[in-house]
Amino acid sequence: MTTPLNLGFARIGAKRELKKAVEAYWASKISAEQLLSTAREIRKLHWSWQSEAGIPEVPSGDFSLYDHVLDTAWMVDAIPSRFRELNLSGDLDLYFAMARGIAGQTATQALEMTKWFDTNYHYLVPEFTGAEDFRLRRNPQLDAYREAKAFGFAARPVILGPVSFLLLGKSRQAHASTAALLDRLLPAYEELLRTLADEGAASVQIDEPVLATDLADEERGLLTKAFTRISKAAPLKILLATYFAPLRDNLEHALQLPVHAVHLDLVRGLEQFDGALRLAPKNLTLSLGLVDGRNIWKADLTQAVELAEKAIDRLSGDRIMVGPSCSLLHVPIDLSNETALAPEIKDWLSFGRQKLAEIVTITRALNEGRDAVRAELEANRESLAKRRRSESVHNAGVGRRLRAIRNSDFVRTKAFDERKPLQQAALGLSLLPTTTIGSFPQTEELRRQRARRRRNGISAEEYDGYIRQEITHVIREQEKLGLDVLVHGEAERNDMVEYFGELLNGFTFTQNGWVQSYGSRCVKPPVIYGDVTRRGPMTVRWWQFAQNLTTLPMKGMLTGPVTVLQWSFVRDDQPRRDTCFQLALAIRDEILDLESAGCRVIQLDEPALREGLPLHKADGSDYLHWAVDAFRLATAGVRDSTQIHTHMCYAEFNDIVDSIAAMDADVISLESARSQMELLDAFAGDRYRNDLGPGVYDIHSPRVPSSDEMLELLKKALAFIPAVRLWVNPDCGLKTRTWQEVTPALQHLVTAARTLRQILSDGGGPLS
Ligand code: GLN
Ligand code: ZN
Repeated sequence: MTTPLNLGFARIGAKRELKKAVEAYWASKISAEQLLSTAREIRKLHWSWQSEAGIPEVPSGDFSLYDHVLDTAWMVDAIPSRFRELNLSGDLDLYFAMARGIAGQTATQALEMTKWFDTNYHYLVPEFTGAEDFRLRRNPQLDAYREAKAFGFAARPVILGPVSFLLLGKSRQAHASTAALLDRLLPAYEELLRTLADEGAASVQIDEPVLATDLADEERGLLTKAFTRISKAAPLKILLATYFAPLRDNLEHALQLPVHAVHLDLVRGLEQFDGALRLAPKNLTLSLGLVDGRNIWKADLTQAVELAEKAIDRLSGDRIMVGPSCSLLHVPIDLSNETALAPEIKDWLSFGRQKLAEIVTITRALNEGRDAVRAELEANRESLAKRRRSESVHNAGVGRRLRAIRNSDFVRTKAFDERKPLQQAALGLSLLPTTTIGSFPQTEELRRQRARRRRNGISAEEYDGYIRQEITHVIREQEKLGLDVLVHGEAERNDMVEYFGELLNGFTFTQNGWVQSYGSRCVKPPVIYGDVTRRGPMTVRWWQFAQNLTTLPMKGMLTGPVTVLQWSFVRDDQPRRDTCFQLALAIRDEILDLESAGCRVIQLDEPALREGLPLHKADGSDYLHWAVDAFRLATAGVRDSTQIHTHMCYAEFNDIVDSIAAMDADVISLESARSQMELLDAFAGDRYRNDLGPGVYDIHSPRVPSSDEMLELLKKALAFIPAVRLWVNPDCGLKTRTWQEVTPALQHLVTAARTLRQILSDGGGPLS
């Protein structure tokens, strides 16, 4: 008998019930008891869905009020001293303090947040000093298991593995070696497993996603040590879960660990399938991740059944499980809540609940024979066939245009050194030009009008009038501040990807397709289902309106192809690269339209470029190649006198400087205020030769930095970048800040630039 399983489910609720409850608790609108009871209701509902779908053992402990890595830190007492010292009365408040910090107390800064592998989910980074005395401080896993049992569900606790937990954290002290930390951590895990076994659990799922990354021998050794010990702690069947990529060099090692079963992601890592069948030791069970937990397309059920049959032939049915490729945390919950999707497209999609049904159908075909689910398999084949043939997916013109791309389409006519004087002649900018990244504060009023427009509460004309007013205001403020290159403020955009998606063919949008990004924050990624084409100019009208209000240069503002790709659900019927190039061609046309309208400075934001990097280093260069090519394809059509800017944030750039240089943007603005310009080291010398604006104003904080502080940062920057190539700008867009913060901060920014210009024209004396 082959067993269906699920590795984890979304927590946020099909209608974001958890988000609403958590935020209400933060705003003191509901009590802790009310929050916990809502959370309990959500868990119960989600368990019942999974159980009704036919999943015999539902995952428990996969739920979280904020983040499961934080939960693990909290469970094993990895609580940094700055939080302990708060002596908060309630545990819940301690938990949320670690997640969010405490307003007005800079000393109790929240844990850092970073991306969970290559997903758009962010986890909180545990901190280790090396002096930790890990212990089972609380046992939320036991609570969750008991709760499931009390509701009548057989459950399998889902636990973040000790090695991944440690490797995902950061050591505050160099001597906090992972090996030493592991020795101290394992007793807590052993005790945890004992409590679960005592309570009646038969199996646990231990996630070690680091197995899908490149590991050193020592790190693999840590996994051996950890699993050797915890496998002896209690009579539990351990399912070791890996996901997001093939295990490559870690595959054999993972299969040899003393566990009952190993889960492999066969959607992202089909290449490891044959190897796994060959290398699996005699008694090991393989759990096959056959249904994509990262995307929203229907699985090819027949193909999945065939793959699983191959595995059963080798290992026997009892040693095979079938599940999603990874936890269903990363997909929306329920397609049946979508009432506005085109029926043709809806027929191709599958969200969390639908994916569970797919998993059960595959297992039934294996256990009872394909005839038992003939109708399901046939309907599935028909949906896939329709999608393959659909005219809304395929546009012959797009294919022709892609094939006609020439090498010269990727390169500007002249090199940067020759372009720069032409741009300078066109723009006449002073030394150390000042600019901003694009958006300005999105006021309450603006949000209100946007919501009214969405409900049809105001006409398009009325809404436009409101946007005109906002843009005018933003421009007058920038003129008063004395900025050199202006922006229109992006008031007409709800979101930097959705705005363009709505204006392009090949995209569709869901009503409730929410996915957790971090804590209570969710995103609703657009769905790219077909060939991408532009219906017409997307930004030219607003750019023109803005430019007509001022004699200063107005930047055209666009989102880059890689970022649109990265923040959408992308079609799985062609390589990501092809979709990215289609986007690039549409943006190329937009850029040329902006240029024809008279735009001299065009910024193409690529904040997500780095996060598209695959988990294995060996796959990185292929990705970077096409990602950079897509940017170049979008931008290289302009005249040499037109200045192309790009912007990046949220990331370390050191390891991709050469790719950033290869993008050949005339100017790049980078997030760097928090790192005190340290990152510029990587851009110094010959590695990066174009203009660069390292952010001098940390827009993630409500703090208004003084002009002296920004001047200091600029002076530091001059150690790496000569003044003639240096721009002065904030770290990122200003839309999350208020005008009360932004106006003085930008005043200080302009003052800092002017002071430095003066110092330099006086001979640079005080610089040394
Ligand atoms: N132009 C965008 C803005 O200013 C850039 C946002 C981003 O980098 N995430 O809002
Ligand atoms: Zn940014």
